[in-house]
Amino acid sequence: MIVERITAIQNTIQRAQKRSALAASEIVLVAACKSQPIEVLKEAIAAGVTHFGENRVQEGIGHWREIKVLYSHVILHLIGHLQRNKAAEAVALFDVIETLDSVKLIETLAQEMRKQERFLPCFIQVNTGEEPQKAGVLPKDIEVLVQACRTEGIPLVGLMCVPPADMPPAPHFSLLRKLAERYGLTQLSMGMSEDFETAIRLGATHIRIGRALFGERS
Ligand SMILES: *Cc1c(COP(=O)(O)O)cnc(C)c1O
Repeated sequence: MIVERITAIQNTIQRAQKRSALAASEIVLVAACKSQPIEVLKEAIAAGVTHFGENRVQEGIGHWREIKVLYSHVILHLIGHLQRNKAAEAVALFDVIETLDSVKLIETLAQEMRKQERFLPCFIQVNTGEEPQKAGVLPKDIEVLVQACRTEGIPLVGLMCVPPADMPPAPHFSLLRKLAERYGLTQLSMGMSEDFETAIRLGATHIRIGRALFGERS
């Protein structure tokens, strides 16, 4: 049951907050809902989940286009790679974009935000493990994107990362926090089902939880 899983997650969040001086006082739980049917999303909403994360614009539209007006308090995060040709749809549907990864994308999004008058809070996705196949920018390239956001008037609020699957995540979370501090950014989207306790102890403000909330993906 989703209600029970949420309680377990909340207990873990509180434990992590008690154990660390770095832990944020308010943690946003983003339910990573890839491939979940709409009934399950409704169950999560009924259980009190308000933030949802989608990996793809198209799947997000499939999930939410019809029901978002019914749940106007729901806040939708894009947590997967965004192609520039989907920028208009993304700005129309989402409330937060966590995956800025190029200056060109920032320019296209800024244009759409002005056109639609929807200035969405954004995160830059950082490839902290410098993995060639992984989305996000290298740590050394963050500065250029931060500048581009400031020039274009995009509300940049933080950094996001997905650490390498086969390595301890803590050093990646610490690195993300240091990088955010360097650029004066206050929000950190880091930590998933397996490692969100560690992420919170190292300063996460947003955790993105899939399996611990919805069960294993088939
Ligand atoms: C799927 C996904 C998550 C959630 O992962 P779980 O291990 O199921 O908690 C978080 N962030 C991103 C970007 C994802 O794609």
